[in-house]
Amino acid sequence: MDPKNLTKEYSNGEVTIVWKSGLCEHAAECVRHNPEVFKPREKPWIHAENSTTEKIIETVKKCPSGALTFYLNS
Ligand code: SF4
Repeated sequence: MDPKNLTKEYSNGEVTIVWKSGLCEHAAECVRHNPEVFKPREKPWIHAENSTTEKIIETVKKCPSGALTFYLNS
C-alpha cells in the first residue's frame, strides 16, 4: 500500500469518519470547526469519540477536498 494514500476509519460508535490521506489538502477546516476531534499534532490525529455524531457530520461536510467522508454504523 502506498503510505501516502492511506484510508483510515475512526468511529464514535454511531458514526465512522473515513479519512483519505492522499486527498487531504491540510486546509484544516476540520481542525477549525471541531478541534476536539481533529488534532493534527497527535497520532492518531482523529478522535471521533470526543464529539457528537451531529457535529461530526457537520464537520465532515465542510472538508473542501473530499478527504473526509462518513457512514453511520449499523
Ligand atoms: S478539512 Fe479535509 S482537507 Fe482539510 S485538513 Fe481536514 S481532512 Fe484535510
